[in-house]
Amino acid sequence: MSNSRTYNFSAGPAALPAAVLEQAKNDLLSYRGSGMSVMEMSHRGRDFIAIARAAEADLRDLMQIGADYQVLFVQGGATGQFAAVPMNLAPQGGAADYLVTGIWGEKAFAEGRKYLDRARLAAVTDPHTYVPPQGDWQLSADAAYLHITPNETINGVAFDTLPEVGDIPLVADVSSIILSQPIDVSRFGVLYAGAQKNIGPAGLAVLIVRDDLLGRSRPQTPAIWEWATLAKAGSMINTPPTYSWYIAGLMFRWLAEQGGVAAIAQVNRRKADKLYAAIDDSGLYANPVAPANRSRVNVPFTLARPELDQPFLAQAREAGLVNLEGHRSVGGMRASIYNGMPEAGVDALIAFMREFERAHG
Ligand SMILES: *Cc1c(COP(=O)(O)O)cnc(C)c1O
Repeated sequence: MSNSRTYNFSAGPAALPAAVLEQAKNDLLSYRGSGMSVMEMSHRGRDFIAIARAAEADLRDLMQIGADYQVLFVQGGATGQFAAVPMNLAPQGGAADYLVTGIWGEKAFAEGRKYLDRARLAAVTDPHTYVPPQGDWQLSADAAYLHITPNETINGVAFDTLPEVGDIPLVADVSSIILSQPIDVSRFGVLYAGAQKNIGPAGLAVLIVRDDLLGRSRPQTPAIWEWATLAKAGSMINTPPTYSWYIAGLMFRWLAEQGGVAAIAQVNRRKADKLYAAIDDSGLYANPVAPANRSRVNVPFTLARPELDQPFLAQAREAGLVNLEGHRSVGGMRASIYNGMPEAGVDALIAFMREFERAHG
């Protein structure tokens, strides 16, 4: 790592591995002798089609995505899918259930309500510091789907087990955990993720949808978010976010070189365990989330004396540890430690936190 790079704990857009950025730099002016940047290529040309196909194949390998699922590369972020999910799955007048365990789930529910006459809260937590047991949820028999957010990026709350929903399609916003730990795709009807946490640059969202759920969309669904149309067109009904797609492909290759999802999940677990241990062992830092539901990729924490927040952030920045401020809606600190954050970055953060506590605690 060159001296000018920091350890970037941003929740998203998030740190990318230096090796991926170096590869992009090498390819920048002329991709594999093509005489042009990937940014400048036709999305229908041979080079880009090969990039797109390889990215999909690598993602299918990494996540062991069955042949009965489509993989779509779309625009509009995860937020676009908040609207696309009801439009694609629930008929006019239809019902759907939402389990809200954090701020992204709240947003998904609020957007879903615009398109659903009967949008129901299966459960909602207050404060968002845990996942209620399934026995406490209210699931409706006529729901077109159950929507969950398995990892709440802002609150740092993660499901420890997957819901049992029978025949009701399980739809999950996996923006912040995709590829950071194994996900059993076969348990889901739909998985979607904005790319800028674990996959690559912003501008791209990845959608994994089971074949039998295609073709339920309402007629007024915008073509760019109609899953069946996208699937038929290889995600190219208009110009896709080509450069983000290409970088996502480099990320998939990089992850495969690290040993794949199971291997990086072990690193991620180690990173999270030691950071939570440092928080729990201290008298200055605290994390409010139920231990079983602590996120392994987003670690929020507060300082016992809020007047120390600004000095903490300023000194962290001087030490090359940046973007540690919590989301504007919750305050405090948050360290996002996705696949792109090396273990050495977490070690450096822990050392800094200990030193700061010694000086101020
Ligand atoms: C970041 C995030 C979003 C929003 O993603 P956009 O791509 O900006 O729309 C939605 N859900 C979760 C869980 C997120 O972490």
